Formats: sequence, structure tokens, C-alpha cells
Amino acid sequence: MLAPGARIGILGGGQLGRMLATAAAELGFDVHIFTPEQDSPAGRVAAACTIAPYEDESSLERFAAGVDVVTFEFENVPVSALQVCARHTQVRPGARSLELTQDRLIEKQFVESLGLLAAPFRPVSTAAELDVAIAALGLPAILKTRRMGYDGKGQAKITAAADAAVALAAMQSAPAVLEGFVAFSCEVSVILARGTDGAIEPFTVTQNTHRDGILRESLAPAPIPAMVAAQAVEEATAIAAALDHVGVLAVEFFVEAEGGLRVNEIAPRVHNSGHWTQDAGGVSQFTQHIRAVVGWPLARPESPPSPVQMINIIGDDATYWRNFAVQPAVRLHLYGKREVRDGRKMGHATIMDSSTDTN
Ligand code: AMP
Repeated sequence: MLAPGARIGILGGGQLGRMLATAAAELGFDVHIFTPEQDSPAGRVAAACTIAPYEDESSLERFAAGVDVVTFEFENVPVSALQVCARHTQVRPGARSLELTQDRLIEKQFVESLGLLAAPFRPVSTAAELDVAIAALGLPAILKTRRMGYDGKGQAKITAAADAAVALAAMQSAPAVLEGFVAFSCEVSVILARGTDGAIEPFTVTQNTHRDGILRESLAPAPIPAMVAAQAVEEATAIAAALDHVGVLAVEFFVEAEGGLRVNEIAPRVHNSGHWTQDAGGVSQFTQHIRAVVGWPLARPESPPSPVQMINIIGDDATYWRNFAVQPAVRLHLYGKREVRDGRKMGHATIMDSSTDTN
């Protein structure tokens, strides 16, 4: 167990790093952020910040040598950066969690190797392979780059055969997977933490609503049958254990009409759909992640006493922050991003009383 005063290194300077850094500070730890970004949301609340590319080995070595454990806030950090850090200090979660979830194809094969279901898929690199995949999976389908996709980026829906060439061109020659379209009744996620001792603490299952590939709203608990929620927790637990994961992990699922589950995505980190835990989870996912990576026992999460809703504040919506700020039942969280951009996550609001007007 690392003692308060120890230093935690975080790769990544975005809002997740910012909320991890403040959670770590509350437990008496000092955070050192490593990010290529100037003036980053996380760098501005941390005890120290190194601004350098993830490929800069000597900066990484200095960073890792000066901290007691390294973690990461997003999964597009190169695995090589973790490997450099691992030469100097402990890295949690380990490179396996990162490597496996960076590639959609490997991730889906891993899910199936555990006896769980993913959306039906085929690897695609060429026009000929795409034709074969479309014939096998049918339409509509979604073509996704294997690597570096997030928030709906690197994806193209194919509704008719005539869309195929445009979709493939959108991949810009990157290897891709074609996914059969899942006619889901809703989407849910399980956020859990796994400690260094292997203990697992799941949060209440959350229902998620996306628009244009970006998470808009989460609702906890998800209004799904208890048996389906229990099954989702069981599957996410199996995934975390198989990865020997340490820290918070999120698994997104499609729930089909009869309650069947398909794993959509695994995120080896704190997750947007778990933000409500800051205000209604008993312990927040950020605190729980810090506890896990410093080797502390996990805290026990609580179910929200009444349904709690989290709304993402995206792009221009951030100019309406006053609407959220004036409502007593709304907990507002803003990420300190200097520039508003279309589709950029600027903050979120947790609504503790679903009768609150957020328009
Ligand atoms: P992803 O980035 O892969 O999580 O995709 C973002 C969102 O697009 C998902 O949360 C779904 O709402 C939708 N989506 C992605 N893949 C599929 C699929 N195979 N079938 C139906 N909807 C999908």
C-alpha cells in the first residue's frame, strides 16, 4: 500500500486525468501528469506536469523514475510508453489491458475466447474483404478502424452496398472491422474496480444514450431486469479477471430485445458513463481507481437512493453553464477546456432529482 505523500504518474492530460488528479489529491497523493498537450485540463490541477510526446523516451524515463506508480487516463496511449515506464516503476493497469483494448479486432476475439458474445464481426482491409464481410453479416453494418477510434470517430455506417466504397475510403487505408448492426433495445455499461488483491467492486449498472457516436446521457440504475444487470456484472467481472486488470474498467454492452447481451467495447480506465458516481455512488470511480493503483483495499460503492441522471455538456452547450449552475439539484462539473469545439466534451452535470428542468 502506497502511503499518502507518494507520487502517482498519469499518462494523459484530459478531463479523466483531471478528475483522477483531484481524487488523488483528496487522499493525500501528489499527481504528475505526462501529456503532449500544452495547458491541459489535468496538468492545471496536478502537482507536476511534463509536456512531451509519448514517444519521447528520455522524458518518459525521467517522469517514471520520479513517481511511485504510473497509470493512464485514456487507451490511445502507445503501449511502448507504458513499457518504458515499467522499467522504472509499477504500472497499473498493466500493458496487457491497454494492448488488448486498443485493437477492436483483438478485443472482440478476446471477448469470444471467454465465451461471451460481441457484435458479429469480420476483419476488413481491402474492398474485396469488405464485399465478403457484407455478404456474411448483411446490412446495415458499421465499418470501424481497428485502432484509435473514440466518440464515434473512425466509423462509417453502411446501409446499402453502394455506401461500401465511401466507408472504406473513410478508414484511410487503416485496418478495420465490419460489425453487423445490433438492433439493441438499450445500451448499458458496467464500471467496476479491481484491486491488487483481485477483489472486484462493481458500480450499479448504467444505461447510456448516444447520439452521433458520442455519449449524451447516462441513467443509474439502468431500468433493465435485475437478472440482465446481474449477467452484465458477471461478464464484466470475467473480463477484468481474465485481464488481471488493476484499476477501474468499463464494459459497454448492447442489450437485445430478449435481454441478451453483446459486449460492444472494453475501456481499461475510468469511463464517461461512470461520472455519476462522483455524486451518488458512495465512492467515485476516480477515487476507486486511485485506491486500486496505490494498492489500497477498494471502497464499497452504494446504489443511488433514487435514479440519477448524468448529462454530458458537449461543444456549444457549455455556453449555457449558468442554466445548470443555478439549479440546486444539479451537480456541475466543468473540465476547464479553453476552447469550445464541435463534439468536444466540456463538462457534465449530475441531476440528483429527475424532475429538475435542464432545458
Ligand atoms: P463505439 O464507439 O463502437 O462504442 O460506437 C458508438 C455508438 O455507436 C455505440 O454506443 C452505439 O450506439 C453505436 N454502435 C456502434 N456499433 C454498433 C453496432 N454494431 N450495432 C448498433 N449500433 C452500434
